[in-house]
Amino acid sequence: MSKINRREFLERAALLGAAVGAGAFMVGCNKGGGGLSCTDTAGLAAADVATRTNNNYVDASTQAGKDCAGCALYQAGAEGACGTCTVVKGSINPGGYCNLWAARPA
Ligand code: SF4
Repeated sequence: MSKINRREFLERAALLGAAVGAGAFMVGCNKGGGGLSCTDTAGLAAADVATRTNNNYVDASTQAGKDCAGCALYQAGAEGACGTCTVVKGSINPGGYCNLWAARPA
């Protein structure tokens, strides 16, 4: 086993600290959007963007017990991916919400 001098030790500690900090930042980013962002409206017609806006679609529901995954109009995408909605066009977050929410039948 080779010994390292004080300078090498400090350099390695700084690199490790930077790596840990970057990792913590990435985890923080994922928590902010539930790990999934479904807000890209590029390619949507203006009327479809307006439907999202006018019905107050948000990527993260603030309504207790109400999110797109529990809405009758939600169509799930692949595991961990955005889904779609039969009324609100574009990518839809299963954790999202809009004013058109209707309970999914049990
Ligand atoms: S109607 Fe609204 S709450 Fe229901 S799936 Fe579509 S966007 Fe989500």
